[in-house]
Amino acid sequence: MRRVSKGRRDVARYLGLPSYRGDQLCEWVFDKGVTDPDAMTNLPKDLRPRLPDLLGPLSPPILERSAGEDAEKLLVGIAQGDAVECVAMQRPWGLSACVSSQLGCAVGCRFCASGKDGLERNLAAEEIAGQVMAIAVDRETPGHVVFMGMGEPLLNLDGVLGALALLCDGHAYPIPEKNVTLSTVGWARGIDRLAASGRRVRLALSVHAGDPDLRAELIPHQPDPLPVVLEAARRYEEATGRRITYEYALLEGVNDGTDQARALAGLLDAGAHVNLIDVNPVEGAGFVPASRGARGRFEEVLASRGVNVTARRSVGGSADAACGQLRARWVRRNGMR
Ligand code: SF4
Repeated sequence: MRRVSKGRRDVARYLGLPSYRGDQLCEWVFDKGVTDPDAMTNLPKDLRPRLPDLLGPLSPPILERSAGEDAEKLLVGIAQGDAVECVAMQRPWGLSACVSSQLGCAVGCRFCASGKDGLERNLAAEEIAGQVMAIAVDRETPGHVVFMGMGEPLLNLDGVLGALALLCDGHAYPIPEKNVTLSTVGWARGIDRLAASGRRVRLALSVHAGDPDLRAELIPHQPDPLPVVLEAARRYEEATGRRITYEYALLEGVNDGTDQARALAGLLDAGAHVNLIDVNPVEGAGFVPASRGARGRFEEVLASRGVNVTARRSVGGSADAACGQLRARWVRRNGMR
């Protein structure tokens, strides 16, 4: 039997009903794709017409949009009058949803807007899956989901595993588990727990520096130091059979030198796969993407050491904002902080 998640209990408690009513409501919305309260025949007749007033729209409302060339950033309404960012990305292989797992982030990467003000709260499973639902209702059901929005997914693993149950085991918005990627700065206990959960999702591990000291500067509140994370990554590969992708944001004059490329190659096994990312400029952060020349030299060093390299263009820029900035502006405009 499916575990009752915190989000479902909250819904039921808020309505003053037993917890199984929260389950019933969420089954209609997520398993069956039904958002019309009149069609929810196992809910009390007098409750159904009151649901929109009590809970707001059952399909998460899209409050704002910021459209780019091949991506659209959406601000989706969630509980307590708040909002969360997700991105609908048109990829060569189909529609992908980039979702957030937390409001804010405790990790505080220096080049990221999401971590500027710390962590506000974890998102409930339904709030994470609701972002995919909002994209599905607005466009079509995405074929892929990436956890690369606000938050560190391993630090909200209960919420993430609950969302995977809703998305990968449900019927309304089916996402094949193999098409789910979690992007993480790495936390050994979280990685081991994810492997033990039986979910076979892809992990994208944000390295950002081959030198552990430089990494600690760029990721001030990293849950574990790099060597510990890399060991956990190897265990994950062995346990799940899924290859890890290593992510590296190339920052001009910070981590884009050939010495850093050599340090990175020295940490990875031959045949490892590195994604070089162009970061979006964040107001006041003082980082700019590496030059084309520096990128080329970095790639050459990695390739000469048997490391596979691809470039991942950051879609946030084409959608007119780095991760976290659309919500930050909305929060300021609405005087919420
Ligand atoms: S990059 Fe990810 S882990 Fe780092 S602060 Fe931003 S959301 Fe958090």
